Amino acid sequence: MTHILVIGSGVAGLTAALDADSRPGVEVTLVTKATLDQSNTWYAQGGVAVVTSADDTVASHVADTLVAGAGLSDDEAVEVLCAEGPEAVQHLIDRGVLFDVHDGQLARGLEAAHSHERILHAGGDATGAAIAAALIARLRDSDVVIRENTMVVDLVVEGGRVTGATLLDGGSIEADAVVLATGGAGQLYPYTTNPAVATGDGLAMALRAGAVASDLEFYQFHPTSLAVPGNPLVSEAVRGEGAVLVDRDGRRFMLDVHPDAELAPRDVVARGIAAQMARQGGEPVRLDATGLGAAFLAERFPTIDATVRAHGMDWGREPIPVTPAAHYFMGGVRTDLWARTSLPGLFAVGEVACNGLHGANRLASNSLLEGAVYGRRVVDAVLDPEVAPLEPFDADWAEPVTTTIDGEGPSLSRADLQQLMWDAAGLTRDARGLEDALAELGRSAVRDATDVKSVEDANLRVVAQAVVQSALARRESRGGHFRTDFPQPDPGRAVHSGVVVTR
Ligand SMILES: Cc1cc2nc3c(=O)[nH]c(=O)nc-3n(C[C@H](O)[C@H](O)[C@H](O)COP(=O)(O)OP(=O)(O)OC[C@H]3O[C@@H](n4cnc5c(N)ncnc54)[C@H](O)[C@@H]3O)c2cc1C
Repeated sequence: MTHILVIGSGVAGLTAALDADSRPGVEVTLVTKATLDQSNTWYAQGGVAVVTSADDTVASHVADTLVAGAGLSDDEAVEVLCAEGPEAVQHLIDRGVLFDVHDGQLARGLEAAHSHERILHAGGDATGAAIAAALIARLRDSDVVIRENTMVVDLVVEGGRVTGATLLDGGSIEADAVVLATGGAGQLYPYTTNPAVATGDGLAMALRAGAVASDLEFYQFHPTSLAVPGNPLVSEAVRGEGAVLVDRDGRRFMLDVHPDAELAPRDVVARGIAAQMARQGGEPVRLDATGLGAAFLAERFPTIDATVRAHGMDWGREPIPVTPAAHYFMGGVRTDLWARTSLPGLFAVGEVACNGLHGANRLASNSLLEGAVYGRRVVDAVLDPEVAPLEPFDADWAEPVTTTIDGEGPSLSRADLQQLMWDAAGLTRDARGLEDALAELGRSAVRDATDVKSVEDANLRVVAQAVVQSALARRESRGGHFRTDFPQPDPGRAVHSGVVVTR
């Protein structure tokens, strides 16, 4: 028996586990399916968006986040993020995270759609690794029971309440509260910046257990991954510093697409690149960072510099090929502002959760902050009975559509599922493609879960169907969801979507 079971070792899970452990008498177990350092968090580059200077304001950070969210962000969830951000970041610093410093002050970078320089970074472009390493060191020094290489398969539900989780090794863990911190699902797509562990497990488990998920149609595709296998990210910050996108003739095509050109919202840049790639027969576009100089690139972006060079390219002298890739899941298990889901005993934080903060599109560098802020809040919600109860769906949250889980045909291979998702539920969608994909997914059986890969495949299959169902239901374009058959936003549809599984 443990008081709190945390599933996942990214910034959200590590923060929740450490905060819970700091409370007297609370027993915490943290389970993670690979080693502690395997997470999206570890690979985060650009940094953490947070107000730390007198020339910036929380109101400005809120306003930028709401603009990026394309009319769908939950105001209160954004306010909490931005207002509690500075304290949460101080908490990271207190736990040993060394953010980069310039002239004795925290160094601050600019990223797309931020109206101030407010992006803290660490190790240049190794921010996520710096945060994770510091928190992992703290965790190893704490009383938290750590179980690495331990795959959670499902949630245990008794009398409508989540009471623990089952493990692939046949065991189970009972808990008063289960905190899902399992991250995103980039592996839904063949091109993704996410590591192999990002297979939507927590979302699939929650759906199977009967929890409500929200906004699953909203996936953010990063505009610029290096066009090589594995799609390593070329951070937005490179464009923030002045690099530009050019077509194969060296022309800056984004100037024709949006007034902010390369620094337009991510979905606009990603679709601009995809359209340009289509015009040039699928050939990747180029990111021209030569104006920044090789020395600056190596110092400011050491990780990207090493990656680019490892692929035999010299980006100080020549533009590099880039392509969009699945990057961040705005949707997830629906939660309130205290990370509570629709199921008693089940909480969700970080990328697996959807409290409405990111709306239809995430503002760059808001997600590490989300883990740091809401990873603390969830502990209050679990341990402090004074926190308000979960509100039922209100006007901004639509009644959920239903989806099923299993089909009777042969199961899809992971590669086939990923290609299906890329083609039908990728950067652009339409009714015909989504309906065909839904039919194919509906026919395909969920594979028996016998090892890590088959558990993941089963989870991807469940999440894929819920994503397609949600994308089909949203007959408009907004943020990360672009329907070629409904290319405009519909003001009447500015509400969060919902999906639940029926049996
Ligand atoms: C390349 C890249 C760059 C990024 N750059 C930035 C950035 O600069 N700024 C920013 O704010 N965001 C950035 N992001 C996004 C950000 O990193 C993530 O949204 C954030 O780290 C998610 O944190 P998390 O704790 O919710 O999940 P993760 O960090 O993904 O952690 C999830 C954990 O859950 C574990 N897990 C999953 N399933 C199971 C299971 N079944 N059983 C047990 N354990 C399980 C995983 O192994 C992992 O430890 C970037 C993402 C990527 C991929």
